Amino acid sequence: MRVLAITKIFPNAAEPLSAPFNRQQFAALARRCDLEVMATIPWFPGAGLISRWSSAGRLAQVPRHELIAGIPVSHPRTLFVPRLAHGAWGPLYAASIVPAVRRHRGKVDVVLGSWAYPDGFAAVIAARLLGVPCVVKLHGSDINVMAKLREQEDVSFLYITHDIASARYVSDRLMVMYAGHIVEAGPTEAVLANPKHPYTQLLLSAVPDPRAPLAVDAETDRGEPPKVINPTAGCRFRERCPLAIDTCSHVTPLPRLLGSAHTAACHVAEADPSMPAAVG
Ligand code: SF4
Repeated sequence: MRVLAITKIFPNAAEPLSAPFNRQQFAALARRCDLEVMATIPWFPGAGLISRWSSAGRLAQVPRHELIAGIPVSHPRTLFVPRLAHGAWGPLYAASIVPAVRRHRGKVDVVLGSWAYPDGFAAVIAARLLGVPCVVKLHGSDINVMAKLREQEDVSFLYITHDIASARYVSDRLMVMYAGHIVEAGPTEAVLANPKHPYTQLLLSAVPDPRAPLAVDAETDRGEPPKVINPTAGCRFRERCPLAIDTCSHVTPLPRLLGSAHTAACHVAEADPSMPAAVG
């Protein structure tokens, strides 16, 4: 797979020690796919003329292309106007990299944005230009930016997380996966308020509650994760499931409609009382 990563923070010839986490993550990614990094350099007219000891002056000297940790890195300049409204930065940033992005037409399978804003904003536009999917890597409070982008820019996101509680803030529909299978799916509020599958219930029991007393009898996890290569028949969650019955060890549960647009793949999960009773 060919990946184009767009980021505003990455090591470069002027600042070789910056953003070690991005360098580490992208080096790991480059071992698995064909990666090119577009590490943008904030620039404004006259940046190269000011003191070489200022950050803007140093960055103006960075070459357009270099090899960092074995990864080909390009450094297009993005117009950055100090003191300009933060909201204008994303569009300026995206417009600045359009010529560089166009050169990747037909050479990229997916675009990766390193942060929600402005990288993710620019990555979405780059992906549209190239006609490929886009993935945005989020960090910490980026989730707030994502929620805002979803409302204001009419952008759809596929949000993948281990933190089920955070899904409430950014998603309309939730799918819970276990060992490669979708075990529960439905409207986010319905799944979180009335989880049907024991794995979803376990995930929610692990969400920290800041109002809980320090010593609580939380439901504890047990058992081992299943083999996902050459798995045997039966429910993949059975070794960890407190509700497992004999059937679970030899019959793989299929998704059943248990609420309005709410499904779960579990032999014992109960339907909402409002649902018509299953026949047979
Ligand atoms: S099918 Fe059985 S083992 Fe799987 S989640 Fe339901 S009760 Fe548990």
